Amino acid sequence: MVNSKTKGENHAMTEPNAHPHSARRLRYVIIGAGMAGIVTAIRLRERGDADFIVYEKGDKVGGTWRENRYPGLTCDVHAHAYTYSFAPYPEWTRFFAGGPEIQRYFEWVTDEWGIRDSIRFNREITACRYQGGRWHIELSDGGRDVADVVIAATGVLHHPNIPEIPGLADFAGPSFHSARWPDGLPLEGKRVGIIGSGSTGVQIVCGLSDTAARIVHFSRTPQWINPTPDFAYSEAERQAFRDDPAKIEALRNGEAYWNGVTEFNNAIVDPNSPEMAAIEARVLRNLEDNVKDPILREKLRPAYRPICKRLVSSPDYYDHAQRPNVTIEVGTIERVEKDGIRMKDGAFHPLDVIVLATGFRADRFVRPITVTGENGIVLDDVWAVRPSAYLAVSVPNFPNFFLINGPTGPVGNFSLIDIAEREWNYIDQLLEPIRIGRYAAVAATPDAFASYEKRRIAAAKTTIWGTGCTSWYLDSEGVPSSWPWTYSRFAEEMTKPKLEDFNYR
Ligand code: NAP
Repeated sequence: MVNSKTKGENHAMTEPNAHPHSARRLRYVIIGAGMAGIVTAIRLRERGDADFIVYEKGDKVGGTWRENRYPGLTCDVHAHAYTYSFAPYPEWTRFFAGGPEIQRYFEWVTDEWGIRDSIRFNREITACRYQGGRWHIELSDGGRDVADVVIAATGVLHHPNIPEIPGLADFAGPSFHSARWPDGLPLEGKRVGIIGSGSTGVQIVCGLSDTAARIVHFSRTPQWINPTPDFAYSEAERQAFRDDPAKIEALRNGEAYWNGVTEFNNAIVDPNSPEMAAIEARVLRNLEDNVKDPILREKLRPAYRPICKRLVSSPDYYDHAQRPNVTIEVGTIERVEKDGIRMKDGAFHPLDVIVLATGFRADRFVRPITVTGENGIVLDDVWAVRPSAYLAVSVPNFPNFFLINGPTGPVGNFSLIDIAEREWNYIDQLLEPIRIGRYAAVAATPDAFASYEKRRIAAAKTTIWGTGCTSWYLDSEGVPSSWPWTYSRFAEEMTKPKLEDFNYR
């Protein structure tokens, strides 16, 4: 490998006689037809000359929105902000769209931008091996493929975390993870236990309290609730969006949206900032003003700072928590019995259904796919302590292998769509010298990666995520794993790659 900086090059494309490889029509394999895989495929299709294919292990596009079908599922990034820049959608029916509507949006984009024929559904990649300058792909059905470039768009939170609660297997009724909701399960008149008080558990409580006879919310660590008023768009408003796309853009990309992102981001980066104080006051007021019963209020009061865990947004969780058919249980579960859950203090909650809203194994990313880079280096070994990638997109010794929404990117209460679009734009620029035949392969340099990691880890420890709670943000050594700087810094980094941080050969 040749470090581009050592050759004193800034712009690989402009030098004469500098194309030792002929310009190539690269073949791309995209892993996953979720939100990130869809945008990658669309951008490659727009190029006109790209040879690409998307392998999707499921039977539909949509990723997390395909897998999560629980009652109450919504996106807490408002709908017009959670859309592709190139595909504004006047038809959103609510400010915060529900899961089925978001799934329909991704299906619509897939068809409208003509990439469905490039997706191979029900085909799961099990291994990617870099050999002879190309990626050799293996699929679970015995299929094989070969690619110049692999884009892992495998999502962040999709491996369910199943808790080891004694007796869970002996429960007589249905019990399942929130991302494995059984189709058509009747819940009218049922007693439902919901374990977990993250965004998912909170949304399920709100989605079910009209239907179920009883809900017990097992909330061993209560969460701060950010009050986020929701409302329906009227037909007149939708017509206005159809007539004037600038109205959509103002919501998607306007000052109000970015002010919100900046406030939130400043709070993450500086726990002593005025922005953090404002958020702290807001969520505290929500609890104090809206939970009437002082005993329940204390049960629902978290003992850590807001945003230390990913902040839960809800317009009405406290309303639901105070309904007569809802019980908030903050004790420790002793065991699951045939017909309910026994607490450590002896209390027993009789139940017909148990929902495990217990989160995801957030350190997985492209795993369990076995990814083998140069010289037999296996990604799983590189990630033994923590998954990471230079600027969240590239790993040394894994040439022409890129992650979208990969580890250490800004996964927070932001639109992952915006992040994915910026990351693709960055990767696309990295690939230009290869497309024109100047080089054959590119990956971050070990030095750039090591320096990035050192700076990132130091910064991560001073963020709000490092102020003493447990959460899925923390890696195996307790270091927050998300982007620890401002969003605008991320956006700036993604504008143009620093070529000296990459090995081109
Ligand atoms: P989560 O935030 O990781 O929460 C998991 C919950 O399960 C926690 O309350 C945890 O308690 C509890 N838990 C785990 N094991 C347990 C056990 N053995 N006994 C009792 N409780 C147990 O998971 P999530 O709610 O699925 O959310 C994950 C992420 O998905 C969110 O943070 C968000 O990024 C994303 N999400 C987004 C939206 C959206 O609207 N955009 C909606 C849903 C999810 P402890 O806190 O005590 O560990």
